[in-house]
Amino acid sequence: MPSAHYQGLVIPHHKERTREQAISHAPAPQQLVLTLNQHGDTKLIPCVSAGDKIRLGQIIARPDTSLGACLHAPVSGTVLTVEPRPSAKPCNEFTMSIVLSNDYLDTPDTNLQAIQEWPSMPRSALCEHLAKGGIVGLGGAAFPIATKLAVQPHHTISQLIINGVECEPFISCDDRLMREQAVTILMGIQIMLHATQAEQATIAIEADKPEAVAAIRSSLDSLNDKRIEIRILASTYPSGDEAQLIRQLTGKEIPRGKLPAEIGIIVSNVATVYACARWILHGEPLTRRVVTVCGNGVSKPGNYLTRIGTPIRDLLDHCGATYSINQRLVMGGAMMGLSLMHPDYPVIKASNCLILADEHEFKPAPPEHACIRCGKCAEVCPVHLLPQLLLVHARLGNTTALRELELHDCIECGSCDYACPSHIRLATRFRDAKVMV
Ligand code: SF4
Ligand code: SF4
Repeated sequence: MPSAHYQGLVIPHHKERTREQAISHAPAPQQLVLTLNQHGDTKLIPCVSAGDKIRLGQIIARPDTSLGACLHAPVSGTVLTVEPRPSAKPCNEFTMSIVLSNDYLDTPDTNLQAIQEWPSMPRSALCEHLAKGGIVGLGGAAFPIATKLAVQPHHTISQLIINGVECEPFISCDDRLMREQAVTILMGIQIMLHATQAEQATIAIEADKPEAVAAIRSSLDSLNDKRIEIRILASTYPSGDEAQLIRQLTGKEIPRGKLPAEIGIIVSNVATVYACARWILHGEPLTRRVVTVCGNGVSKPGNYLTRIGTPIRDLLDHCGATYSINQRLVMGGAMMGLSLMHPDYPVIKASNCLILADEHEFKPAPPEHACIRCGKCAEVCPVHLLPQLLLVHARLGNTTALRELELHDCIECGSCDYACPSHIRLATRFRDAKVMV
């Protein structure tokens, strides 16, 4: 059984095959598929049509709200079509997508420019410019940065928390980014400090990433910016969850139904602040991200800088994939990721990890047994829910009780599944029940 540690679990990690691999470039594919539902709840409206010539970094879709993020071309070439294509999120559906043919020239959009004078820009102008870079939360949620920054002037932000925790057991892309790009990450934090007018930024890193801590600390010593500090956290799951992180670092709780900004805090992932720095300092919108590719199904596991829209099959093939029955392909982490039916989906901005696992890594789920009311699920729930009761009411379809038991606070972390001796797949039930509610 897992051991409880504070409000988290100590779970075995499987990062050894990727964490020592330096970030390398995945080849740009011949055809890219950019899904239009990849920015959280924001809808994207295409602004190109079949036959249009496009340049690298050009805006190809805009949000239907001023608080969303644009989508930019990850290559130069031609728009082949705008039509529904399979999309990994949500739930293996077909989603309207822009399909690009790569001309392999990477001809840049000349409208894109770096803004070296950002320190003297008014806060509002900097926020406005950040919103144009297509930047969304890269920890998995893909929440547009513009939406986070729009909480001002209604709320004063006093603290930024930069999430370098990466507590999922297979993912190492943030670890590598911190080791290799510490200076740029710190510049991204300085930009975010200016954009939010926060007084302080705390970078949270788990203790199992000593090289990342050393790299950030060494760059921080050279920068000598007293507003930025590092905090080392114990390696527990799910310590990277936003609410857990805030509680651990500040002792504050986010009131029910509120955003962190309403208690003066903004949380951003390390990869997100890195993307902010690339946009402001180099004029590079978000068109690529680092993806951890791992699992026994690939012979070259590692961390790959991948263009958004790359077919997952292409990326896996580059990593030496061999396909067999009884494999499982998961996008995201082993705990919170999404099982994919096949690799014919594209990489999206939220794709931090792909796991092509065999039956030894991800054993077939054992049969479920009846709940024995042991209470272990409640003991490990980081948001203090009562999973066994939620299960009863999810099975009954009792939406009133599910609301009263605060199902909406479930972060779908899977800790209850992990602890359950009856092997009940609670988190999956809660995900479905949320749709019902
Ligand atoms: S851990 Fe499983 S068996 Fe125990 S109370 Fe929760 S749901 Fe029931
Ligand atoms: S999946 Fe939901 S109910 Fe289960 S431990 Fe995580 S937050 Fe609690």
